[in-house]
Amino acid sequence: MDITNLSAAKLLDLLNKKQISSVDIASAYLNRIESLDDKIKAFIHLDPEDVLKKAEKLKDSDSKLKGLPIAIKDNFCVKGQLTTCASNILAGFKPPYSATVIEKLENDGALIMGKVNMDEFAFGSSCETSCYGPTHNPWNLDCAPGGSSGGSAASVAARLAPWALGSDTGGSIRQPASLCGIVGLKPTYGLVSRYGLIAFASSLDQIGPFTQDITDSALLMNIISGHDPKDSTSVNTKTLDYLAGLNADIKGLKIGIPKEYFIEGIDSDVRDKVEQAIEIFKKAGAIVEPISLPHTEYAVATYYIVAPSEASSNLARFDGVQYGLRVKDGEKVNDSALIDMYMKTRGKGFGAEAKRRILLGTYALSSGYYDAYYLKALKVRTKITDDFNQAFKKYDCIITPTSPTKAFKLNEKTNDPLAMYLSDIFTISANLSGIPAISIPCGFTQDNLPVGLQILGKAFDEQMLFKVGHAYQQLTDWHTRVPEGCK
Ligand code: GLN
Repeated sequence: MDITNLSAAKLLDLLNKKQISSVDIASAYLNRIESLDDKIKAFIHLDPEDVLKKAEKLKDSDSKLKGLPIAIKDNFCVKGQLTTCASNILAGFKPPYSATVIEKLENDGALIMGKVNMDEFAFGSSCETSCYGPTHNPWNLDCAPGGSSGGSAASVAARLAPWALGSDTGGSIRQPASLCGIVGLKPTYGLVSRYGLIAFASSLDQIGPFTQDITDSALLMNIISGHDPKDSTSVNTKTLDYLAGLNADIKGLKIGIPKEYFIEGIDSDVRDKVEQAIEIFKKAGAIVEPISLPHTEYAVATYYIVAPSEASSNLARFDGVQYGLRVKDGEKVNDSALIDMYMKTRGKGFGAEAKRRILLGTYALSSGYYDAYYLKALKVRTKITDDFNQAFKKYDCIITPTSPTKAFKLNEKTNDPLAMYLSDIFTISANLSGIPAISIPCGFTQDNLPVGLQILGKAFDEQMLFKVGHAYQQLTDWHTRVPEGCK
């Protein structure tokens, strides 16, 4: 039996039956990481000895997860462990506390394996803005895994971890999940506590699971969701069991297909696979109809005002005083010693994309431009949300491609920020509106790269996404494929 090829639910079943132990699982993954991660480069902070020690400790635990390991994106605070957001400015930073989701996982007996790669501060769609260098797509090592949670996606796709956590501000869970052929969920804004997630854009950021299939996604949501008084935007809703209702029938369910998501420029392979998937939903008895979300075309422009504005404010705290890097020597750039230190630290610590975001955001928020850009963007954001509200009066869910393209080559878009920003054209609207959306594998291109399908639902209706996704996975086997070379 190859432990690393099993889903989290199956591993849990074997743990419960005492047929394997947390040490067996940790060793199997560590061996696999040792043999494959030189090529994939998903993990950036991993201490194998520490992992084994933790596994040993959890061996006879009667907790819910019994030492089941999980990979964590490097923007989650884990007490006493390196947390760098893949940025030089946080070099050496070890937080004094853990994010709420990390505490929840540990309370349930999860083994935090280590940290996986990401775009610097989650700015990007390819994992290439990481100060550690890029992660490679397990389906084709010359390709990007997507981003910003590229390490989370690649680690699960290559079976270096049974599941992983990531964050999604404009698509950073769904787009890499799609490009790596796995399941990625961005939950409703406020459903999962953001306490201890290093903020990118606080009104858009959400934490969510990367898994092999829908069942694991539901299982992980049962653990990480729920109200947290430490996050003022966390919503106090009733706790749901996301595993319940997975097998419900989708007959008669109303699915809307927005015409604005099947635009020119989308890869023909992607369009074909998504259209084939839609046929499967029809055969399963769903009522599928074309719809319109007319403000979709403004989503990218709106996002690239709102997100950098919030980022420029959030990143102001990295000034060399409290966290990570401090540069104070060398040639003087300013007469005040303190300002000199700020400037050198920020100049050296942030990469080019982070600087671009800070400049864009500071400009959009500056007096004189605030009304023209930021305020205007907020108004358009409401229009985009209204489009969804209208659609969900009539439809149970909406289906679209997750990304307009398959995985692209590393370096293909690094010199063209606009082309990179367009990777999120189909994922951004869900963040602007706060609604949940999931990406599931729905086939492969002619050159054997995975294609993802996105299901969007009403706020707090994750159960609908799981039900629809699970129905699809009962009728297809795309989610069971493992990249050649990773088998
Ligand atoms: N690619 C988008 C960006 O660069 C989204 C990133 C994210 O969701 N963190 O802003």
